[in-house]
Amino acid sequence: MASKTRILVTGAGGFIGHHLVKRLKADGHWVRGVDIKQPEYEPSAADDFRQLDLRLWENCLEATRDIDQVFNLAADMGGIGYITASLAEISKNNILINAHMLDAAKQNGVKKYLFSSSACVYAGYKQKSADIAPLKEEDAYPADPEPGYGWEKLFAEELCRYYYHDYKFETRIVRFHNVYGPLGTYDGGKEKSPAAISRKVAQAKDGGTIEIWGDGDQTRSYMYVDDCVEGLIRLMASDFREPLNLGTDEMVSINHLVDMICKIANKKLTKAHDLTKPQGVRGRNSDNTLLRKVLGWEPSMPLEKGLAITYNWISGELKKKSAAQSTATKKTETGELAEVAGD
Ligand code: NAD
Repeated sequence: MASKTRILVTGAGGFIGHHLVKRLKADGHWVRGVDIKQPEYEPSAADDFRQLDLRLWENCLEATRDIDQVFNLAADMGGIGYITASLAEISKNNILINAHMLDAAKQNGVKKYLFSSSACVYAGYKQKSADIAPLKEEDAYPADPEPGYGWEKLFAEELCRYYYHDYKFETRIVRFHNVYGPLGTYDGGKEKSPAAISRKVAQAKDGGTIEIWGDGDQTRSYMYVDDCVEGLIRLMASDFREPLNLGTDEMVSINHLVDMICKIANKKLTKAHDLTKPQGVRGRNSDNTLLRKVLGWEPSMPLEKGLAITYNWISGELKKKSAAQSTATKKTETGELAEVAGD
């Protein structure tokens, strides 16, 4: 990537987009960030941050004006509870964002466009046991993706391929497996498993109990956000137009993930498994054969180290929040007392 390339990151108010903007700025590029909201935990490093709803065509045209490269990370998404709760709304929002962004980027003469897909495109029938074989890119077909969110991602991948086929519009397609790290949502319902578990562990008293969704034997692999950003930059620089996995192939069960976080927090906790809660596919792991071949690289952050950074950030945020709350309570109490005294 030549320096001072003009780059648009959509979803720049979200987790991966925020980290990507920081990295691109550190690499010396001019960056525009677009999102429907501001970043939650620190200001954006973007040269130009615009708050726009990218479901709307005219906003996509504004976002992509005078831009060389687009990393399209904007999406209505969350953890398994969130994406299984509203299939129509999520699919509609994301298909509008992706169809409008792709077409606006083409119309504005963007040179390269990266679409962020997901491991949720993989066929459900290939993910029925906890010790499944890692998923290769071709395992998305015959199609049986996650309802709603996964179907939309799979079709948006196809749309990128059609834009190259019909218009020679340069597209890149990345399939993220779970990404975690600091500055990501850790409460409110949109958080993913490492953040949700870190929050629960941080809030629990040593010797207490935490709720785990499902029996905890379901398996996943997790990629640290810095590796994710590195992979995105490498894929954009490559000439590879087919979908590519971006994740680690270090598969762990949710129970094991909980044990790792408890060890980091130095707490002994009992797991209460709630079998009524959604737990997604039974097993999922990334096959990185193609990733290694295409990029000559793969994610390298050890899970335990990345989790320690993430846990410490979440636990620090929770401490800050509760300190702010107790100051506010004290102020209210003092205010009330002052009123009483005024009487
Ligand atoms: P995130 O929710 O933190 O970021 C997505 C951002 O998109 C949010 O800030 C949100 O406000 C924004 N957005 C939603 N609707 C919008 C709209 N109408 N207009 C403008 N902005 C809008 O999620 P993330 O983890 O940073 O994910 C980034 C991308 O990676 C998404 O496309 C997601 O589907 C994909 N992905 C992420 C993971 C993961 O583990 N984090 C896994 C697979 C795929």
